[in-house]
Amino acid sequence: MTPPDPALLSLNTITTKKWTLAAAIAGCARHGIRGITVWRDRLQEMGVAAAAQSLKANGLAVTGLCRGGMFPAPDAQGRQAAIEDNYRAIDEAHAIGARCLILVVGGLPAGSKDIAGAREQVRDGIAAILGRALQAGVPLAIEPLHPMQAADRACINTLGQALDLCDVLDPQATGALGVAVDVYHVWWDPQLAAQVARAGARRLLAHHICDWLVPTTDLAFDRGMMGDGIIDLPRIRALMEGAGYRGYSEVEIFSQRDWWQRDPDEVLAVMKDRYRSC
Ligand code: ZN
Repeated sequence: MTPPDPALLSLNTITTKKWTLAAAIAGCARHGIRGITVWRDRLQEMGVAAAAQSLKANGLAVTGLCRGGMFPAPDAQGRQAAIEDNYRAIDEAHAIGARCLILVVGGLPAGSKDIAGAREQVRDGIAAILGRALQAGVPLAIEPLHPMQAADRACINTLGQALDLCDVLDPQATGALGVAVDVYHVWWDPQLAAQVARAGARRLLAHHICDWLVPTTDLAFDRGMMGDGIIDLPRIRALMEGAGYRGYSEVEIFSQRDWWQRDPDEVLAVMKDRYRSC
């Protein structure tokens, strides 16, 4: 297997949570990292125009904007508010030249036990924003989340389920709708190889990497650095490349007890080193 291309390493800014976006951009420049995925709260804090200018001036590929989605709501007003927020996210993604808008689709509306209904709301929400995304030239990347997060974050839980939705909403595979393959969420799936192949280059929009720690002590905030857990990262990269993916590998680590506590410059140095064995 060919080693990973250092030019295709990207930093998801949640990994360096302490840093403002301006600090993360400067950090990437210092460490020679060529790609960055931006979170909306940090983007808004810096200002969209200033961020766009700085990202461009530093020659960074914006591998994604995190995040849109969160479609289900208890009433029509709530669902409409979510759609409008997604419109704003698409505009922001366009303004910074993001290669995709990541969709964390949302879980059950408050008080609901109807997961099938939540999934219908997600389908309808994505349908409502797809035209705007196409117009803006911002592909939407549905990120299936591990089923442990089905209730509170995303009721789309496998790659197969996400691709079924792509087939329904974008049957021509225009490139406007695809998936984000986050190893943390999909490593366990017996269908992973088949579904990555099914997605193909048109629908593989992002590749998020980190590791799964054993034991895991928090459902959301205990991700590991590549190499510290049990995910076969080279195998998943080979699947992605075999299916035609030529994009970045983006390091996305939520880690309350470890990596978020460290000096972000140390985090970047370690992630660059570990990436070589991914
Ligand atoms: Zn992710």
